[in-house]
Amino acid sequence: MPDSSSLPRQWPLIVLLLVLLGCGFLATSLASYYAALDSIRAGIIHTELPLTSDNVYSEIQKDLVRPILISSMMSRDTFMRDWVMDGEQDAKQVVRYLREVQEHYATVTSFFVSEKTHTYYQAKGVLKKVEKDQSRDDWYFRVRDMQAPYEINVDIDMANSDRMTVFINYKVFDYQQRFIGATGVGLTVDAVVKLIDTYQQRYNRSVFLVDTEGRLVLTGSSGGPLGARVGQSLNEIAGLEELMVKLPQPQSGDFEYQEQGRGHFLNVRFIPELNWYLFVDTHEDGAVAGIRQSLYINLLICLVITALIITLVNVALRRYQRRISALATTDQLTELPNRRGFNLLANQAMQEARRNQSALCVLMLDLDNFKQLNDSQGHMAGDEMLRRFASHLRNTVRKSDIICRWGGEEFILLLKDTTPEQARELAEKIIQQTEQSSIRFNDVDLQITTSIGLAHLQADESLEQVITRADRALYRAKQSGRNRLCEETA
Ligand code: GH3
Ligand code: MG
Ligand code: MG
Repeated sequence: MPDSSSLPRQWPLIVLLLVLLGCGFLATSLASYYAALDSIRAGIIHTELPLTSDNVYSEIQKDLVRPILISSMMSRDTFMRDWVMDGEQDAKQVVRYLREVQEHYATVTSFFVSEKTHTYYQAKGVLKKVEKDQSRDDWYFRVRDMQAPYEINVDIDMANSDRMTVFINYKVFDYQQRFIGATGVGLTVDAVVKLIDTYQQRYNRSVFLVDTEGRLVLTGSSGGPLGARVGQSLNEIAGLEELMVKLPQPQSGDFEYQEQGRGHFLNVRFIPELNWYLFVDTHEDGAVAGIRQSLYINLLICLVITALIITLVNVALRRYQRRISALATTDQLTELPNRRGFNLLANQAMQEARRNQSALCVLMLDLDNFKQLNDSQGHMAGDEMLRRFASHLRNTVRKSDIICRWGGEEFILLLKDTTPEQARELAEKIIQQTEQSSIRFNDVDLQITTSIGLAHLQADESLEQVITRADRALYRAKQSGRNRLCEETA
């Protein structure tokens, strides 16, 4: 029995199952993915990056403490103060002093600038005179006017092949607390750069310092993020657009951004001693990428399982529906199609006959005096007779003919491509064979005869009409004595 009519009915169920499984699998996969991602993110943001930041910060502080102490000592040195107050007689004396400091403490530079003469002394001799209208001498006048006893100024040392240098500028006073000049030393930030290099290479993170205007001031030896150089503004670095949207001005905190489609985690810390921001940045490394990959694998497995479940359910439903529809269209006793099954097949046969203009005949059969058989031999004997008669009919007609238990002890045959003559011949054969055969049941030979009504499908006639005519012919066969064929002509 074709079950195509019942197939679409299972789709809402399949779709519902698909949605439920899909939502369930997706929800659990995404929940575990985001939980794992969150813990990795939290680890990077709250532990790993701050730890790097702490280490770099303490290294910077360490680098700064020493020059501050040296400069403080220089500012209190009685020799230097006496020499200034004595009128800066012999420059060689202060130059020798500065050279001693520089060599002994291995500083990059050591200097003294006199307030009275504006002379800039350093370890190699008298360098120049500081002048108010020279921008590179601004630092001196800033130090002179500031409240604090000293400042830290990180600058490129032009006298030392542009090395990034930390200058400690200390104010020098005479014994009456009058300002007489500025002194101090300069040290390289090599140790910090080395540390930055270590972190960048070993832990796959980028460490750099940025001033309050967003310019790079200190990086590892190989440069800043995306190969940027010291002095460059973060604004000018292609690829950091999304970071600049979040941080047009540097500010402390934890940030996430995308750099050319790659996720980044960033920790920013303000270093008050330098008035700089320390940036520690790492991109989505293997851990996050691994989690994403396991999400894809999870989803793939879920997809395969969903597809398997859907296929299995679909197959089971189809089989079940086929069985149900077979049950609904088959007569249990004779295993012939029942009226419902007949209607489905007969309508198809009618359409074919119309299309091909082929002959089609209907035989309506009714066992004679069946009630008597039932009454005398019992209902079970009647059932057996019906089964055997049905099986005989099935063996007598062609495979293409449609055969049905019409109800009770009535059967109908729809003979395709069959002329009335051929139908008549077949009907006579059935009558004769039924009459001549007997079945043995409970040691009793049972016999039966059958009456048949024949009708030939007329043009523009419906299935009901041709069956009604066959039924009328059957009635006549009964009326005229049973065990015979009557034909209903149009
Ligand atoms: P007629 O020659 O006029 O057809 O007489 P009849 O006795 O065959 O017709 P009637 O309609 O009077 O009786 C039909 C009987 O068939 C009555 C009913 O109990 C019996 N019958 C119908 N279905 C079944 C069945 O499935 N099994 C059995 N054993 N009997 C059935
Ligand atoms: Mg009967
Ligand atoms: Mg009957």
